[in-house]
Amino acid sequence: MRKYNFSAGPSTLPVSVLEALQKDLVEYQGMGLSLIEASHRSPEYDAVHSTTLALVKELLQVPDTHEVLLLQGGATLQFGMIPLNFMGQGGSCDAVMSGSWAKKAIADSAKVGTVNKVFDGKDSSYTTLPDNVTTTAGAAYLHITSNETIEGVQWKNFPDTGDVPLIADASSDIMSRPLPIAKFGMIYAGAQKNLGPAGVTLVIIRKDLLERCPDSLPAYLNYKTHADKDSLYNTPPVFAIWAMGEVLKWIKSNGGLDGVQKLNEQKAQLVYDTIAAHGDFYRCPVDPEVRSTMNVVFRLPTEELEKQFIAAAKDKGMIGLKGHRSVGGCRASLYNAMPLEGAQALADFMTEFAKAHG
Ligand SMILES: *Cc1c(COP(=O)(O)O)cnc(C)c1O
Repeated sequence: MRKYNFSAGPSTLPVSVLEALQKDLVEYQGMGLSLIEASHRSPEYDAVHSTTLALVKELLQVPDTHEVLLLQGGATLQFGMIPLNFMGQGGSCDAVMSGSWAKKAIADSAKVGTVNKVFDGKDSSYTTLPDNVTTTAGAAYLHITSNETIEGVQWKNFPDTGDVPLIADASSDIMSRPLPIAKFGMIYAGAQKNLGPAGVTLVIIRKDLLERCPDSLPAYLNYKTHADKDSLYNTPPVFAIWAMGEVLKWIKSNGGLDGVQKLNEQKAQLVYDTIAAHGDFYRCPVDPEVRSTMNVVFRLPTEELEKQFIAAAKDKGMIGLKGHRSVGGCRASLYNAMPLEGAQALADFMTEFAKAHG
């Protein structure tokens, strides 16, 4: 039996997508070979590449002012590429310190220049976000993390940053809801939460910012290289892009981003409501205003009970509920491909467990 996979990433994918990939893996549409054996300059791959890019633009309604890139190296490489391309040695940028992933992004920016933390959630153990932020004169950009995967904190409205480009790491909530792309100088995401298997990184970047990328950078590290070559400067991760295209078709057939947003809110509500209904047993540390629809974090009365809960859930075919090792507790990741039935099964189990142990 297929398990309900609540892992934070890599994470669950739609079964229909896995089956579509399986069906075409060995022999791709009459080519006499697999797509992953074929040249990335072949017409067959070219069609996959351009379909995937077109679906990103269509689903996110990317305006003509922005370019869509498909890169490698995960969101982690973006932590370094962003300061190298936009801040330059000795420059400065602004950043919101909202949790574990923001911390990693900030650490890489700080290797290149000065980072002004315009907000730091450390006093609340990263359970909240600012209502507003004030940018600093001379800041090359403001970096935020649209969803903190580990702490379960998510921006619901994005800050106005005036002339300072807003750059967002949306690795764990991209394509989970409509986004005001025009507001962002750049928004990026590793694929392995909502978009497909690991191996491809989606970057959407405002075209005028490409003019700021310094020629002194090694070719791969320069965004302009990839924009000029339509993300085919070097061999792309063919399988990952093919799979991402299939995931995007699945999103489209499920009502696009409005459709998945509705479902995501329903799933998250089921779990948050269960936590609230057993408030003497479960506790969500996150400020209710900014609770993530993607990663629901919660605690039980003791670490021993948390261990038992995770083990008992596993016996029922629900895996990946352990919180990140840095924070402990429990976490249910409810990405796009988690069906409503999975969230319902978890909520039912949580109720049962609270009754038995509360
Ligand atoms: C998973 C994750 C990352 C790291 O992504 P990689 O693709 O492994 O580099 C970065 N930021 C956020 C918010 C994430 O959830």
